[in-house]
Amino acid sequence: MISEQLKEIFLKNKDPFTDILGQDSAKQSLKSALLMDRHIIIVGAPGIGKTTLAKNIAKILPNIEVIEGCSYHCMPKDPICPSCRQEPKHKSAKLTGIKRFIRIQGSPDLTVEDLLGDIDPIKALKFGPLSLEAFTPGKIFKANNGILFFDELNRCPEKLQNALLQVLEERKATIGSYDVDFDLNFIFISTMNPEDTSTEKLSDVLLDRFDIIYMDYPENMDIEKRIVLMKGKKITNVSDELINLIVYFIRLLRQDNNLEKKPSVRATIGLYERAQSNALLRGRKNVQFEDIKDAVISVLSHRIRLKPSIRYLQSIEDYIKEQFHKNVEATKWQNHLETEQEAGDLR
Ligand SMILES: [Zn+2]
Repeated sequence: MISEQLKEIFLKNKDPFTDILGQDSAKQSLKSALLMDRHIIIVGAPGIGKTTLAKNIAKILPNIEVIEGCSYHCMPKDPICPSCRQEPKHKSAKLTGIKRFIRIQGSPDLTVEDLLGDIDPIKALKFGPLSLEAFTPGKIFKANNGILFFDELNRCPEKLQNALLQVLEERKATIGSYDVDFDLNFIFISTMNPEDTSTEKLSDVLLDRFDIIYMDYPENMDIEKRIVLMKGKKITNVSDELINLIVYFIRLLRQDNNLEKKPSVRATIGLYERAQSNALLRGRKNVQFEDIKDAVISVLSHRIRLKPSIRYLQSIEDYIKEQFHKNVEATKWQNHLETEQEAGDLR
């Protein structure tokens, strides 16, 4: 049903995801998966725009009519929750696209009850332990007729992953002595950072319920520059040449084989913003080279990580300084940039 609503939008508009620049292949896969009501995992490094892309779907979802006050977002012609089913007459209300997008932040503390719901002990005493009145629906029910967006699925405990699998597979879940039917109509979208090693591995059976969409760093310098200009704050002037320098240096680090953790677009934006504040604090309206140089360590030292073999020989601060000096300061970096671009290395 969501696919029906999106079909028209996708056929009319070639690029409905305007919050993300570039990423054409990820966008194409996303549209294709959504048109078939597939559940999706967006995979990519931090700061690549996974959440932004997912949230962009909410922006384009059309408004729908739902039954007023129902926490399951039942539609008048097809109510699924017991109370709407019992009640023959309903008042309807408008549910906006944004409200059809329910977000859950994956974390080790997240419980099955947060997701699925729980039994209210006081109501259970009053109405009986197996009464539906005693059941408080979890977030998954709010996603009915919409999208359940699960940020960082692999950060949540295994127990929750199993409960989720049961819901996706059997459309059923067991909560305490309850068997809850999930006659829900929703698309499940989640994100995953493959470099996050502190997390639970998703089981093969769970992964089998999803299609994967990969997102990578901005495809080329030009797109990354446009992202920086679009998302970054602007308080002083930065010449085109110096924006190029910032983007060039970050993209160079991404190709550095000594790094096991690469800088994201947040690093590029960070360097762009901090160079400006440095200039302002020095009483200037225009950013100069030294303003960028002075921001490099503070913006980058925690955003990148050296491979162990290098890490024990050199501190990250020294490494950044050295790279900046070697590749930017000591060379006529612009010439460097031209040759790199011709070689296609930075694409
Ligand atoms: Zn209802």
